[in-house]
Amino acid sequence: MTLELYNTLKRTKHIFKPIDPQNVRMYVCGPTVYDYAHIGNARPIIIFDLLFRVLRNYYGPEHITYARNITDVDDKINKRAEEKNISIYQLTEQTIEQFHQDISALNVLRPTVEPKATDHITQMKIMIECLEEKGHAYVAEDHVLFHVPSMENYGKLSGRSIDEMQAGARVEVAPYKKDPMDFVLWKPSKEGEPSWPSPCNINTSGRPGWHIECSAMAAEHLGENFDIHGGGIDLVFPHHENEIAQSTCAHGNADTTEQMANVWMHNGFLQVEGEKMSKSLGNFITIYDTLQDWPGEAVRLTMLQTQYRQPINWTAKGLSESKKQLDKWYSVLKTEETDKQDHDTAICSEVLSALHDDLNTPKAISHLHSLYKHAFEGSKEAAHTLKVSAQLMGLLDQKPEHWFAWKPSRTSLNEAQIAELIIARNAARKNKDFAEADRIRDELIDMGIVLKDGPEGTTWSVS
Ligand code: AMP
Ligand code: ZN
Repeated sequence: MTLELYNTLKRTKHIFKPIDPQNVRMYVCGPTVYDYAHIGNARPIIIFDLLFRVLRNYYGPEHITYARNITDVDDKINKRAEEKNISIYQLTEQTIEQFHQDISALNVLRPTVEPKATDHITQMKIMIECLEEKGHAYVAEDHVLFHVPSMENYGKLSGRSIDEMQAGARVEVAPYKKDPMDFVLWKPSKEGEPSWPSPCNINTSGRPGWHIECSAMAAEHLGENFDIHGGGIDLVFPHHENEIAQSTCAHGNADTTEQMANVWMHNGFLQVEGEKMSKSLGNFITIYDTLQDWPGEAVRLTMLQTQYRQPINWTAKGLSESKKQLDKWYSVLKTEETDKQDHDTAICSEVLSALHDDLNTPKAISHLHSLYKHAFEGSKEAAHTLKVSAQLMGLLDQKPEHWFAWKPSRTSLNEAQIAELIIARNAARKNKDFAEADRIRDELIDMGIVLKDGPEGTTWSVS
């Protein structure tokens, strides 16, 4: 069975051929650690965790190197530490700890390496000096800038024209830039900002720009040319375009060298009412808050219900449906006690081929559902196959008792929301729309709320 992946760089799906099947290498841009991660940030984490699992299954777990970085030097971090009156180190360490807790509840595996930007400043400086020596970068007012016109085929990932890129970049055009598209590799730090001795004979101390961080960390852990580079679709331009520019220009002749990574993969947006979930729009919900109301596995399944390149509309209804689906699946595993039998069971070939088709998770899930039906009808074999096939997707990995023991956190209950749902249910009952009334009651049950209808009206309690 082959593995096909969509490559943003080629705009088509191709059979994946690793550079070295003994060491398949993948880099994914990780979080900037200044605040709780939101549920949109969880999408690339879950998607590339799934790909990591599929690659481990195909090539063998010891033959995959997965690097997912942590950006722990950034202006947003400085600002937040100042607001909270804590040190930058305290803020980044707390945020990293929270991030790890959040994503482990989503059953995300630890990557092989999780490099931090601040541990790679030397490698960044070496790369910056190399770019300057080769004429791809220049010093201006204590900054080092990448000179975009020095690279002939800049823009091939996003496929945009220079005009479009200029409009899209929305970068402030500083007077010292030779070209409006030039971007920062290194910048001076003000008093109190994190700083290191600068490269390129600059006397003041400074700090790296964001893009160079990933180029340096990817080269350090995966080499100059590696297999897969991933992230959300918003990273195509300028972040990934600039990573390609820096890495190919530093490591060889940009016009003749292989690209930094052979396959570039990007997940679509997680949306709320048609808009990208983002901190700046204020329409976000954190992973942490979501996990107060929903089991992590239901969040993971909801994320996988949509193929990763499509936009996903995030709703409580979607989460509730996933939770019900998992209730069903776990109910047929209840009677299965032996791990040995699981060990002897093969992953369903239809599930595997769906995942090998550019991670077609909706199709894989529909096969899991067929397996569930057979298991429900009494097939023990189907129950085992369901379990091992779902496990490849990071699902059905816990004991059924554990799954059924999960309860929403009481502290997160939103009384106003409950009251609203009770009013909506009563209105539905008055209109004799009993299906809708039952649906609302079930939604409340999923939130851990039981209703009691009495002569005084409807009251609720935590189940
Ligand atoms: P940021 O914190 O904005 O740098 O994002 C970290 C990662 O999350 C990047 O790979 C982004 O592309 C991804 N990301 C951010 N918001 C969303 C969203 N609403 N949907 C999907 N991916 C997102
Ligand atoms: Zn990156």
